[in-house]
Amino acid sequence: MESKQFGVIGLGRFGSSVAKTLSDLGYEVLAIDSNEERVEEVKDFVTHAVCADATDEQTLKAVGIKNCDEVVVAIGQEMHNSILITLILKELGIKKVWAKAQNDLHGKILAKVGADVVVYPEKEMGVKVANKMVANNILEF
Ligand code: ATP
Repeated sequence: MESKQFGVIGLGRFGSSVAKTLSDLGYEVLAIDSNEERVEEVKDFVTHAVCADATDEQTLKAVGIKNCDEVVVAIGQEMHNSILITLILKELGIKKVWAKAQNDLHGKILAKVGADVVVYPEKEMGVKVANKMVANNILEF
């Protein structure tokens, strides 16, 4: 078991997949969502699952976010929340913040407020699938 601890904020399809995979790989995961049902869905898979509004700095401190070496902000729809949370995490001194962007403008803002890595899951998966399709065609040829 590695000693590194990860945080995942936002437990939609992307965030819950990240949280479960990190847990499966043997890492400690603190998972946070303001939606109780989403928290219930992951609570058996991660080390700590907390229902909380992550835009509240005091709450983030209270749940121990500062123990996390890296945190993933996996909120797409509510962009204002993802931007604010990313800013707070960097101000709290989280070394590496990964942030999911909904579009290019969202990604630019996330980078400006300090996100260390901005990910575009749909865009990146689209590129992967297209490359796989072409690779399969070459093999079949
Ligand atoms: P996916 O495509 O991965 O399913 P999404 O980006 O479309 O996800 P969203 O609905 O944008 O999903 O949000 C992801 C999760 O983030 C939701 O479960 C939502 O409850 C949670 N969330 C949004 N704002 C906050 C907040 N301030 N604090 C904690 N969790 C939040």
